Amino acid sequence: MGKVKREKILEILDGYDKENITIATLGSHTSLHILKGAKEEGFRTAVVCEKGREIPYQRFHVADEFIMVDKFSDIVNEDVQQKLRDLNSIVVPHGSFVAYAGLDNVEDKFNVPMFGNRDILRWEAERDLERKLITESGIRMPKKYENPDDIDRAVMVKFPGARGGRGYFVASTTEEYNSKIENMLERKWITPDDVEKAHIEEYVSGCNYCIHYFYSVLKDEVEVLGMDSRYESNIDGLCRIPAKDQLEADLNPSYVITGNHPAVIRESLLPQVFENGDNLVETARKLVKPGMNGPFCLQGLCTDNLEIVVFEMSARIDGGTNTFMDSSPYSYLLFGEPMSMGRRISREIKNGINQGKLDVLIT
Ligand code: AMP
Repeated sequence: MGKVKREKILEILDGYDKENITIATLGSHTSLHILKGAKEEGFRTAVVCEKGREIPYQRFHVADEFIMVDKFSDIVNEDVQQKLRDLNSIVVPHGSFVAYAGLDNVEDKFNVPMFGNRDILRWEAERDLERKLITESGIRMPKKYENPDDIDRAVMVKFPGARGGRGYFVASTTEEYNSKIENMLERKWITPDDVEKAHIEEYVSGCNYCIHYFYSVLKDEVEVLGMDSRYESNIDGLCRIPAKDQLEADLNPSYVITGNHPAVIRESLLPQVFENGDNLVETARKLVKPGMNGPFCLQGLCTDNLEIVVFEMSARIDGGTNTFMDSSPYSYLLFGEPMSMGRRISREIKNGINQGKLDVLIT
């Protein structure tokens, strides 16, 4: 655990007026439905918003309070933290919150009660920890190659940092890997340091499913709330060109996420879906105490053997939940009323308050 101490957070929470809790988040990523869902559950809402980015929150009327900042990363500034505490805020972390606030700051400086397990955020951010959590759960991941000389099948090469899927490439042999790397270095698309840190893994040929789970600590139950698949540039554009023209166009693929499609999976695969979610929650309980708490997502590819191979995990609300701001087929099955992931978080917080157990949901 970082320097933010649980006792301190519980002390702040203790001082909150539980009748007047505000659900707050950074204005980006999944904040629209986090805030909308909070309002539906009867909470006041606040958005920490970068100047110039306020329009969606104004026009969709999801935020009661605007805390304007010059840049997103100012959310960790002491004055912003104080404003959040003055509003009795519980902050819902999402991908942009973690990216802009910075993991170290979230762990060491952010003295505002947050929903979920703060410590697990590092387990999704660091590839080795992520792999440990997923593989110890018995979930298959793409084989990882330590050395490009060992490439014996199609692999996907990923570079570190905030570039997302930009510059990812596929290679089938060591020679192809070397020549592509050389070419990218020549064009200055990558640095020697990137090559040093390149992550090489088996290319899994399958259909993309990102499965959105919610683990309710209060009910001790893993819920499947929705699924999406990714819409990525330029690979999804490249696939619209006939093979002959692809060769002539000499375009380099990239896998930069630009949006999401809602998806459903074959019903016969649902036992595997639940097993993966249940196992991950069990493993997290042992590895990152007290364990999973709230939303998480397993991003995978389903092969023609009908095996889900997971290449990444989000240990907080994932961007693909934007595909069901009202309901997904799965959240409808469970709740029979509009239920987004954002609303589900606020429902849990509301239940926590009503049951006098808010402290177990907060870090
Ligand atoms: P990532 O940055 O790991 O989320 O990957 C970006 C995209 O690359 C994914 O959404 C997939 O389309 C694709 N991808 C990632 N890993 C693999 C893999 N091992 N095999 C095939 N495609 C992958």
